[in-house]
This record gives sequence, C-alpha cells and structure tokens, in this order.
Amino acid sequence: MSERQPHNPSASAALYQIEGWGRPYFVVNDAGHVEVRPDPSRDEAIDLHSLIEALTARGIALPLLIRFPNILHDRIRLLNDCFATAIEEYEYPGTYRGVFPIKVNQQRHLVEEVVEAGRPYRHGLEAGSKPELLIALAAMQDEDGFIVCNGYKDLTYMETALMAQHFDNEVIVVLERKEELERVLEASKKLGIRPCLGVRTKLSSKGIGRWSGSCGERAKFGLTTSEIVAVVDRLRELDMLDCLKLLHFHMGSQVSSILPIKNAIREAAHTYAELVKLGAAMGYLDVGGGLAVDYDGSKTDFHASMNYGVQEYAYDIVAGVQDGCEKAGIAAPTIVSESGRAVAAYQSVLLFDVLGADGVHFGAPDEPEPDVHRLILDLYETYRGIVPKNVQESWHDALEAKEEARSLFKYGYLGMRELARVEKLFWHCSEKIQQNLHRLRHVPEELSKLDELMSSIYYCNFSIFQSAPDTWAMDQVFPIMPIHRLDEEPTVKARLADLTCDSDGIIDHFIDREEVQPVLPLHPLVAGERYVLGMFLGGAYQEILGDLHNLFGDTNAVHVRLEDYGYSVAHLIRGDSIEQVLRYVQHDPEAMVESVRVQAERALNAGRMTLPQLRTFMRHYESSLLGYTYLSADEE
Ligand SMILES: *Cc1c(COP(=O)(O)O)cnc(C)c1O
Repeated sequence: MSERQPHNPSASAALYQIEGWGRPYFVVNDAGHVEVRPDPSRDEAIDLHSLIEALTARGIALPLLIRFPNILHDRIRLLNDCFATAIEEYEYPGTYRGVFPIKVNQQRHLVEEVVEAGRPYRHGLEAGSKPELLIALAAMQDEDGFIVCNGYKDLTYMETALMAQHFDNEVIVVLERKEELERVLEASKKLGIRPCLGVRTKLSSKGIGRWSGSCGERAKFGLTTSEIVAVVDRLRELDMLDCLKLLHFHMGSQVSSILPIKNAIREAAHTYAELVKLGAAMGYLDVGGGLAVDYDGSKTDFHASMNYGVQEYAYDIVAGVQDGCEKAGIAAPTIVSESGRAVAAYQSVLLFDVLGADGVHFGAPDEPEPDVHRLILDLYETYRGIVPKNVQESWHDALEAKEEARSLFKYGYLGMRELARVEKLFWHCSEKIQQNLHRLRHVPEELSKLDELMSSIYYCNFSIFQSAPDTWAMDQVFPIMPIHRLDEEPTVKARLADLTCDSDGIIDHFIDREEVQPVLPLHPLVAGERYVLGMFLGGAYQEILGDLHNLFGDTNAVHVRLEDYGYSVAHLIRGDSIEQVLRYVQHDPEAMVESVRVQAERALNAGRMTLPQLRTFMRHYESSLLGYTYLSADEE
C-alpha cells in the first residue's frame, strides 16, 4: 500500500497550514521540504531536510532541537518596532522598554542571544526567582541595562537586587505581596541604599483562557487596592515616595483575545494615574506578559490561537495608556512589557525520526472455505456488499457479528482461531466502510470516529514529557508536520506515540483550522528510508518544563546561524547521557558497573555465562552509560 502519490507542495503547505502559523519563518519549498527563513529581511533560506543530513554527517543525532538565533533577533526587533510604530503614530510622549522573562527559556545561549538582540532597543530581562535574578545580573553587563525583579523574594534576594542598583543597570524590585515591603525596607536600611520599587496590582479585569487565574481579586500574586494604598502610606511616612516607580500587572499567558487586554490596560492606566496623584514618583507602567502565539494559525480567539497581531497589541496598549494619562493630566510613563512566549516560541524546532508504524492496512480478505463457522461466512458477505449507500447498515451488521462472536467465545461455542478470524474480518469491513465514507456528502455521526479508530500509530524517537510537556499537561497543540516528502500525498492518518511506556505518551491532538483533530495526515513509511517530523513553535516553556519520565533526558541541541556564506553550526549542546540522568536520581554509575560485574563473574564461575558473553555484556553496559538516552540509528 505504500506507493508514493505525487502531490503539489503547495497543497501540502495548505494541508499543514504552515502559512497560518509559520509565516514568515517557515515555508514549504518546491523540493517538498520545509524551509526556514531565519531572517525575513534577507533572502537566505535553510532547507531543513538538507540541514539534518549535514548535521547527521557531523554525528549529531536526532532527536535534535535546532535553535535559530536569527529568529529570536527578528522577534525582538518585531516587538520593539511595533511599539515604536504605535508610539510614533499616536505621538505618544513616552517610550517602550521590553523585558524578556527568563523563566520562558533559561538556557544560557538563549539568554545571551536575547541580551545581544535587545541591545539596540535597550531590551531588558525579567527575573521571577533568585536563580533567575543571578542569571539576569550576570547577563546584563552593558551600561543602561534594565532588570525587573518579580516573584517571591527573601532578604538575600532583596539585598542582592538593591546592591545591583549600583551597577550601571536600572534594577526594579516589584512587590508581589504586602509582606515584601517591610523586607525591602529592612534591606534598604541595612545597606543604606534607597530602593527602586514597583508594585504588582491584582486587576479586577478578567483574563481569558487557561491562565485567567493570574488576574483578579483571588490571584496568587499582586496587591489589592487597599494594600497598594497601605504601601503608599508607609512610603510617605518614611519620605520614600520617590522610590516607587513602577506599576505592574500580569494577565496570564497566551491571552488569545484582544478585548480583555484592552480592558486591563484601561484599568491599569487609571491605577497608574492614581498612584501619581498620591505622590509616588512612578515613570513605568509594566503590562506583564500575555502576548499570544498563533499555534494553529487560525487567527481566532481559540486558546491555541490569537485574534490580534503584535502590531495591534502595541497600538492598543499605547492608545490605552495614552488615553488614561491624558484624561488624568499626568506625564506619560515608559511602557514595559514582559513578552516571553511571543519572543521565544518561534526560535526552535524539534526534529525526530519515526521508528516504525502500527499499520492498519487490511486490504481484501481471503475468501473463506464453505465449511467455516456461519459468522465468518456472514461477515464475509457483509464485507463484499459494502457500498457508499449502505455503509451505516453494514457497520451495524459488522458490529453485531463481532459482538456475537465474543459472546459465543465466552460460553465456549467458538474457538480462538475462529474468533480471531471474525475480528480480523471486522477490521476489513471497517476499513472498507471508512474508504467509502469519502464518497458521501454527509457522514453519519456514529461513523465519524472511524478515521480515528482506523488511524495508524507512528512510533517516534522522542519523549513528549521531555520535549513537549504542555501537550501532555494541558493539551496544548503545537504544529507538527513532516519536514520532507511534501511533494507526495500523505495517505495515512496517524497518532504519534513517544518512547516512554506511559499511555499518556501519545499525541492525539493536532492543529486544524476548524477544530483540533485526533489524527495527523502522514506519509507511508518506506523501508530503509528515514522519515523525519518537526514540532514547531516549542521555544517557549517546553525546554524547561520537560522532565525525565522513563529517564529520557535532554535532547541534543544546536544553534544554526545565517552567515554571508550560508549558515554556521554553533553551540552544539550534547543531550544528556544515560550516566547523567542516572546521577540526577542519585544512582552511582561506578557502583552500578561494579554490581553487575560481580554478578557476571558469579555467572561465569557457575558456568552459566561464557567469557565472551561476559565481555560483550560489560561492554554494552558501560558504553550505554555514556550514550544518548534515546534510541540510536547506528546500532547494529
Ligand atoms: C510568565 C510571566 C511572563 C511571561 O508571559 P508570556 O505570556 O510568556 O509573555 C511575564 N510576566 C510574569 C510576571 C510572568 O509570570
């Protein structure tokens, strides 16, 4: 069945909706490969399929995470340009300064790229914990850096942040809970440093979507109106109102609709104006994160999408803040956003091999001998009679025959071989019915699940828990598609299973313009030929939330950068070895080697094992410890 059917690459592009979610970075080229345009202002493109061949030739194995720093640069440019455009068009008297929330992707190379890409725009960093503050302080080396400190803070965190104000950076400590005020005052008194403070407000405007809980009265973080007033009063008492400079709010991540954003801005602008009137110095209004990514390319307010663009986001924020300030007659603040997902999601692609498939292609059954069980003969007749107009009736007949066979078997009236034949015939019928459905204008409700029932499972060399945890934890959908053979028709519908032995380790949610689909159209596997799938837009949150389920560790990662002569491969980060993941969970590889060696010696002495077997066993054991946790292609 695995014959190649030619297909127009542009039809494949439409099928996988790459235009919707991938523009301008990912396209399908004439060769039927996915092509990356890391810098949309330049013509250069990198053919992903050729890139994998080149990397494989260097001994870099799949699963592999490829980061494209040019894309990261372009996202930071886009964000800053959109705000610059909005500021210019609306003649907003203030400026914009973005900060990158480190929690979105803490990898050193990525943070370093963010700092570099952000330099022309004075883009800063946001820390949500003490370790992230340490990263931010080390990474922002230039003069005029900008660091916003969120998250729960102990005294050390406070003191570190205060002392870092003496570097060339603006470091703002945002009070997330009312108790933090006394702590920061204590640190300030002890060190003799006047703090640069912000407050996080709990807006009453509701966000939407999964993270809507980040907002509102009952949110985990932030101060209520009365708590903010208390902070102001306390600062006034100490003659420190000049220290309060920033108002912060965060609506939650992936806010897919623009309306709640507009509402929140209106409320925040008013709160900001009130703080100015109460005598706080102010100067910054920080609108937090929330800027979404269109994972399914549908441009809707579906949770995996967004019904606005980055430019509209910037327009609405600038307009909302401007409006609020004009009404209140106060100076326009510097607008800060903590956009993380929208900056980091596009820059990495995860590539993995399909190892095999549970094909469910039954074709035509053999004609049964006349003396077999009546059920088998009946079901065969049902099979032969299937035509488009009787699919529903045939489905009922097949189901009934299968049920009857099971109950006869249960009472001992049918043998195991006969039951097996009935079940097999049932699948033949299902397949023929499914094929006939395509010729119907209206598919009966009960048969609409047949595509899913008859779908194949493609086994893939990766771990969902390590590389795409949100697909499991919150049914997040990421665009997934083959990166080659897009000039062939994908005739198989499949779900994707990972390497873990967890029944949740399966992807059965795929993007679609209409509704999320349980199966993905794929190409039949060809013996001896690799088939590589790409998971896109996973550059935000996925790398760091991943876990060691079944001890599959970090994948290999490389940075691929555009150069005048083509591209360069930099920063090869080897994925975890088995030895490394074992140490994470406190095993001692040397002791393990010793333990199995003693057992092997015992088996040798007792004559249960030969010397060559012992040697091979020990070699496998020791070399496995040093190897990749994923399956390797070049194993004999
Ligand atoms: C998580 C978080 C962000 C990042 O949000 P995105 O939606 O990824 O842009 C920004 N600010 C705070 C306080 C956060 O907790």
